Amino acid sequence: MVDVRGVHKSYGPLEVLRGVDLRVGAGEVTVVLGPSGSGKSTLLRAVNHLEKIDRGFVAIDGELIGYRRSGDRLHELKEREILRQRSRIGFVFQSFNLFPHLTVRQNVAEAPLSAQRRPREEVEELTAELLDRVGLRDKADAYPRQLSGGQQQRVAIARALALRPKVILFDEPTSALDPELVGEVLEVMRDLARSGTTMIVVTHEIGFAREVADTVVFLDEGLIVEQGPPAQVLDAPRHERTRAFLGKVL
Ligand code: ADP
Ligand code: MG
Repeated sequence: MVDVRGVHKSYGPLEVLRGVDLRVGAGEVTVVLGPSGSGKSTLLRAVNHLEKIDRGFVAIDGELIGYRRSGDRLHELKEREILRQRSRIGFVFQSFNLFPHLTVRQNVAEAPLSAQRRPREEVEELTAELLDRVGLRDKADAYPRQLSGGQQQRVAIARALALRPKVILFDEPTSALDPELVGEVLEVMRDLARSGTTMIVVTHEIGFAREVADTVVFLDEGLIVEQGPPAQVLDAPRHERTRAFLGKVL
């Protein structure tokens, strides 16, 4: 479903991604671990073309993201096309990023109505169903500021799901939460994983990685140092850098 090949990205002289290859099959969950500054957020942003890459490519469900190929050259797509592609890639941020002036229900319904132009009746039904799924049906008419961080993040997940995404990218979705609210968000993510959602999750929640991930990837200084099933990467890491990192977070 997700195919990242040879992706390079620099900011000026700083090479942040140095040739990243990553494949995520349909319905699979990949957890990305790595120290601060290793390029995790940049990698997620490259996947939905929030970040232009310098070399390599990203394809989702067989479709090149952000570019079209002609001969051996890549041409960037028009903004409208990029937005269309991005509307099928869910993104859940550390900082929730809900629209503060919209209710919970409106936050979830906004993109399907305006970006995807789906019929209002269908979207209303879907919104109710998704709010049920994340346990927030009774908060449909509340505003984000009236919710806890954990509730806001669950709304953000419902909003991502409303796009009928091919993949959902999570960038440290529980890092901004008070510790007692982390569990309710991870529970929703676990449920998504069980129901076959394709997910790439940047997180430091090793327990979640162990339990839910099909593949754990360790990114360091812009390179994938190690990847494999959780039992291998977490319990029997082959590389010293992975061991050193796990020693700090476990
Ligand atoms: P991580 O998410 O793993 O902490 P990031 O992908 O956010 O890492 O950042 C990787 C490196 O790229 C860091 O050194 C960061 O300072 C740098 N960086 C990220 N975004 C930008 C930007 N827009 N301009 C310049 N440097 C950036
Ligand atoms: Mg980051």
